Amino acid sequence: MPRQQLGKLAAGASQANEGRPAPGSHEPKRRAMPGAANIVGFTCIRCGASYPTTIEIDSSGCPACHETAPANLKPIYASPADPRTIPASAPRSLWRYAHMLPCALKDAVSLGEGQTPLIEATRIGRSLGVPNLFIKDEGRNPTWSHKDRFSTVAVSVARAQGATVVATASSGNAGASLAAYAARAGLRCVVTTFGGSAGAMLAQIRKYGATVLPLVNKTDRWTMLAEAASRHGWFVASPYRAPVVGSHALGIEGYKTIAYEIVEQLGGVAPDWCALPVCYGDALSGVWAGFQELFAQRAITRLPKMVAAEVHGSLARALASGSDRLEERSATFESLAISIGAPRSAYQALMALRESSGRAVSVNNNGLIEMQECLARSEGIFAELASVTPLLAIARLRREGVIAAEDRVVAIVTASGLKDLDRSVAGPADNTIFQSTGEAWEWLVRKDAGLLMKPAIAPAAHRAGIIDP
Ligand SMILES: [Zn+2]
Repeated sequence: MPRQQLGKLAAGASQANEGRPAPGSHEPKRRAMPGAANIVGFTCIRCGASYPTTIEIDSSGCPACHETAPANLKPIYASPADPRTIPASAPRSLWRYAHMLPCALKDAVSLGEGQTPLIEATRIGRSLGVPNLFIKDEGRNPTWSHKDRFSTVAVSVARAQGATVVATASSGNAGASLAAYAARAGLRCVVTTFGGSAGAMLAQIRKYGATVLPLVNKTDRWTMLAEAASRHGWFVASPYRAPVVGSHALGIEGYKTIAYEIVEQLGGVAPDWCALPVCYGDALSGVWAGFQELFAQRAITRLPKMVAAEVHGSLARALASGSDRLEERSATFESLAISIGAPRSAYQALMALRESSGRAVSVNNNGLIEMQECLARSEGIFAELASVTPLLAIARLRREGVIAAEDRVVAIVTASGLKDLDRSVAGPADNTIFQSTGEAWEWLVRKDAGLLMKPAIAPAAHRAGIIDP
């Protein structure tokens, strides 16, 4: 995408949001929000009501929609950024797009997040029936998940607003990411988890120095955070009220950068489809907002269709029923994709799917580990189990003829496979230790003779496939 087209994006979003007064709306005072650069108010993603910067971001979303169909807010930007303002000295990180984000570059708490590779994945693509497949590998972020795009913005805003404690309800990637950025910012971090959670991600959270509060009852995690926010002013990044509307509206802005990068990496065009794993839809709605901004600024001429790979089917159900209110589904099985196991998603995800004419695909445990291994073996990308659900969704939509063979498809792989090794690896496959090279050769002859064939021709040139930002 031409750089000169980038700068108007924030203004485009703001102009789209303004001028849509809704019943019960408060006219935003055009006063910048302390600690949040360029933000003059918030608007409801569902009804368009606008609110001043003083509205409390209390995890219940738009007050006007709360009773009918809870919906998240999004920020209104004050003024257009200069289109040519990505300076040569801009950092090689997500903060390259600081002028699109609700926090000034000087206040950024960064670990070099973003700018992840978009990898041409023809081999696995062919096996799924979509040779034009690209993997956006978000496992390359500083804490090995896409949550860093959220945390870098949320923690930057929190610190600029004077918060001393940031908090989240998570036993996984979100907690690990927030803990890392809090450490980087010199802030305290509290992560509420539920009893019994364990594994690499919890170890990661503790290593970053966060205070972990395990609670036996899952819902107590949110109660604890709601009390802490009101009593002690903790900056809570995650959802903490039901029904869920999503995470902190300013943090979600960080996910827009995934769309900016994909379009740049594809040479200024959007893919036909963009698929990702979805829990409450923070990333889905953020990525969709990024594509919409690019479209509004004519940086792209058409929008992609979004695909949500979900576990229990609340989005597919809402798409079918037409309701704006998502139903809680009964969890009929324990998903291996722990990062997206919630029984109900949020309106923000539904909206992105509807607006993009996208699809929600329910993915269970069948074929999950096999797909993880297929991706690792055929492309060299080892992804978390939840992160390969988009590939299963793409395969299903291709079989159903929804995705065409020639379509250009991007799968956002959200986290590294090292995150949930405890779930994806049953145990050591083979403990044999050879006493000599002779024994090792004998074993190869018996078990893997394919390794002993001489190549008929010289090995093919190394495939070019990584598109550097
Ligand atoms: Zn509303």
